[in-house]
Amino acid sequence: MYDLKEFVETTKRFYNKEVSIGDYKGFSGNFGSYAQRGGESSMLRLRMTGGIVNRDKAVFIADMIKRYGISLIHATTCQTIQLHGLDRDTVCDVIALAPEHGIYTVGGGGDNPRNVMASPLSGIDPEEYFDVTPYAEAAADYLLAQIWKIKLPRKLKVGFSSSPKNECHVTFRDLGFVAKENGKFDVYSAGGLGNNAKMGLKVAEDIEPQQILYYIKAMIDTFIAHGNYKVRAKARTRYMQDELGAEGYVKAFCEALDNVKSEDLTLDIKMPAEYPEWHGEACGRIHPQKQPDRYYVTYHPIGGNPPVETFVKIAEMMTDENTLRLAPDSTIYIAGCTMEQAEKFVELTADGASTSLEASTSCIGSSICQIGLQNSQALLKAIIEAVREENFADGVLPKLHISGCTSSCGAHQTAEIGFSGRVKRVDDKVVPSFLMVINGNDELGREKFGEEIGIIAADVIPSMMVEIGKSVAAAGMVYEDWIRENRAEFDMIVGKYL
Ligand code: SF4
Repeated sequence: MYDLKEFVETTKRFYNKEVSIGDYKGFSGNFGSYAQRGGESSMLRLRMTGGIVNRDKAVFIADMIKRYGISLIHATTCQTIQLHGLDRDTVCDVIALAPEHGIYTVGGGGDNPRNVMASPLSGIDPEEYFDVTPYAEAAADYLLAQIWKIKLPRKLKVGFSSSPKNECHVTFRDLGFVAKENGKFDVYSAGGLGNNAKMGLKVAEDIEPQQILYYIKAMIDTFIAHGNYKVRAKARTRYMQDELGAEGYVKAFCEALDNVKSEDLTLDIKMPAEYPEWHGEACGRIHPQKQPDRYYVTYHPIGGNPPVETFVKIAEMMTDENTLRLAPDSTIYIAGCTMEQAEKFVELTADGASTSLEASTSCIGSSICQIGLQNSQALLKAIIEAVREENFADGVLPKLHISGCTSSCGAHQTAEIGFSGRVKRVDDKVVPSFLMVINGNDELGREKFGEEIGIIAADVIPSMMVEIGKSVAAAGMVYEDWIRENRAEFDMIVGKYL
């Protein structure tokens, strides 16, 4: 059961040092909260199904920012919003108030079904196959209802993709639904990033969208039956591929599916009517939606951390027509705008990224995350500062993905250039370092985990990026084309820093 009283009491005992950090982590994650590094403040993760934040939710977050003086919020790669630096009373207050606005935090951490993800532009993207939002919402309702009934070996991440962009990595998630042109889903399972990264296995093709809950129930049952409850490091769903073999896993999943067929889990979702065709023009960060005369604005807060003053102003300017769409790369789309509104939102969000490099993705990093190894946010900041001095054109350096440790919250394996926190010995000293990974891809049909290049000391990475940028700029190219034709030069530059 969802016992908030227990959360409040245990949190008080934790801040009184009567509960250890480890014990508190095991408890508080079930409520979507963790103590931050040092144990002096808390983080709270607000679930946002499909990354959609309506006006009421945005205004609630803005109110919390103002009322409690919150100074750091982070748009996560799981399409949630994290509030950081909360004191004991604030975390207890916010967690109690959030459900009044349809915001749930339960199961936001721990061994639970996590925030259900969906393509961030679902329902507004002119190029999507169909809007997957109603299915993501039905999945979220179903999974939230399971949280206190089941005991999973580890967390379970479910995602929906509405187009081949595959932003939510549904072909390599614990369970992923891929929308198709024919109005159906293909289903992938037991994939994931992090240690022992694995592509998902296709467990079903062309399923009717109204049947998704059968596949979710089969996933839960398969995980409970075959997941590893003994060794935590091998408990994520992808390890079932190692245990059972690919064929054995698919067989086990299909058997579980057969067993749930007698249940009544068919959905009855009515899809919205098609919109009349129109051809709006994109203009800078303003893009046309599929709805006539509606636009969305792209805003990538640096490091995924919108300045709280900007977030408050965005919330205050939103109407009931607007939604924020949190993307898995920490971009925030402001949707449902008229052109006049869109222009105002562009002005308001001028603090965001202005190049691909500045739109890099970084997890929150080890200055806050208890289990983090390196400060991914500090690395990104140092790279951006060094690169800004060079005034490279947009595209000379690509969007990076940075994770503070092997957990891959920054999805470094999917990036053109990714970094993942490690340590390295230099002159007999252990120094903060990052594993460099290149040429990853997350697009549907072209998925590839990046190639590991080597471990580089954090303090020289900004210089290395500048050197790569200079070579790309000198060739008059963008990075994406340059790396294809100049791999030997890339290896030569990077080799000096390894
Ligand atoms: S990748 Fe590591 S450091 Fe970053 S948020 Fe995840 S666990 Fe923490």
